[in-house]
Amino acid sequence: MAGTLYLVPTPIGNLGDISSRMAETLAAVDFIAAEDTRVTLKLLNHLGLKKPMLSYYRHNTGESGAAVLSRLLAGEDCALVTDAGTPAISDPGEDLVRECAQQGIPVVPIPGPCALVTALAASGLPTGRFTFEGFLPMNRKNRRAHLDALRGEGRTMLFYEAPHKLLATLRDLRDTFGPDRPIALCRELTKLHEEIRRTTLGEAADWYEANPPKGEFVLVVQGESAPQPEAPGLEQGLERVADLREEGLSLRDAARQAARELGLSRNTLYQAALKEPEQQS
Ligand code: SAM
Repeated sequence: MAGTLYLVPTPIGNLGDISSRMAETLAAVDFIAAEDTRVTLKLLNHLGLKKPMLSYYRHNTGESGAAVLSRLLAGEDCALVTDAGTPAISDPGEDLVRECAQQGIPVVPIPGPCALVTALAASGLPTGRFTFEGFLPMNRKNRRAHLDALRGEGRTMLFYEAPHKLLATLRDLRDTFGPDRPIALCRELTKLHEEIRRTTLGEAADWYEANPPKGEFVLVVQGESAPQPEAPGLEQGLERVADLREEGLSLRDAARQAARELGLSRNTLYQAALKEPEQQS
């Protein structure tokens, strides 16, 4: 019988976020596939664990993925971990999970730290509908094209960004969505210098131009607001009063009903209707 692939998230900065299930899973599996075995060794030392590891990172997913799969098929259990956060989220893991699914190997996800969800929850921006865009392309032309495709996006947008590219990205975001668009810059989450800066794209670009960014960032950008339907006005109220009068209602009753239907002041509508020429004849 095949073994199980466990997806094990690791802290994004604060070792206090290690869960007992995560530690128990790392202790129980036969081996660990790690993005960087040196980073994971520190975690294992912290937990007092010793475990065979193999390296599974962006540039060896084919070869190393095949080794992991054959050990899973032989019945061994494996924990997949990355340097920080949830595997397969802007980190290696997607291919391995797909191949396990194709081969009928059980995949058990352990919930845990993930920078994007942590940032979204703290952003103060709408959380009901969002789109995660990961890292924008490095190449400026491709980055602008990616952002152009997001024009008119109504959902909250989340981006991962490295500090040395933050300013260029903020300028591109500002030029695409306008300087007044709200943004929450979530920096160094769960760490000593955690900071959540809720501002606008224009102000954020100005701020980081003067104050070079440090640390890890998640950018949470508000989606485009849907245009608000115009509230009904007096003119619409008067038209409705005229219709109701034609149906035989008295002026007072027509004003009362139209005001109720359209959310207008009954007295204002009645007084305005009184001044209408057809009411004076
Ligand atoms: N798989 C990880 C997860 O679940 O969040 C993401 C890995 S991705 C390679 C690294 C990016 O995540 C960083 O460049 C940054 O944008 C974001 N990130 C990771 N840790 C963070 C933290 N403590 N505070 C803010 N952003 C963080």
